[in-house]
Amino acid sequence: MSVSPESCPALVLNADFRPLSYYPLSVWPWQEAVKAVFLDRVNIVSQYDHVVRSPSFEMRLPSVISLKEFIPLTRRPAFTRFNVFLRDRFSCQYCSDGYPAPELTFDHVIPRSKGGRTTWENVVTACQSCNLLKGNRLPHQSRMYPRTRPVQPSTYQLQENGRAFPPNYLHQSWRDFLYWDTELDPN
Ligand SMILES: [Zn+2]
Repeated sequence: MSVSPESCPALVLNADFRPLSYYPLSVWPWQEAVKAVFLDRVNIVSQYDHVVRSPSFEMRLPSVISLKEFIPLTRRPAFTRFNVFLRDRFSCQYCSDGYPAPELTFDHVIPRSKGGRTTWENVVTACQSCNLLKGNRLPHQSRMYPRTRPVQPSTYQLQENGRAFPPNYLHQSWRDFLYWDTELDPN
């Protein structure tokens, strides 16, 4: 069976063998992975059966690579639409229902018209009906309080939340790295 190299992306691990990122999962197209191997920036941890050839060399495409140099995670995640949804696990902070990102919106806990600012501490994920229902009122007026007090998350917290949303494509050789890196339940 012939496999297109395009269907052979490489999972990228940090130098500590944990995925560089979970959400989105750190994955490089085969060309980038091969280039990084030649530039000596990565180690090949696992390979596909698929071989690429040129007149001067041939190699099995890497399925898992690890960076030679450790990249520290930035401590403060960017205040973006996506990261707010990720902090709140893509669920409405008022009715607790989960929604696909395009159906979610933001709510200013203290409305902007009443001096509320657009910050990690005052913006929460909301579904459209809850957002409409709450409208321009303060929490005690609408009796609608976010189920978790909104705070600035750490990059680690966002990574943790991202694990809950695995991508569609998972090669067999990736599973170990995703599996072994899950937190052990202390019970
Ligand atoms: Zn809602």
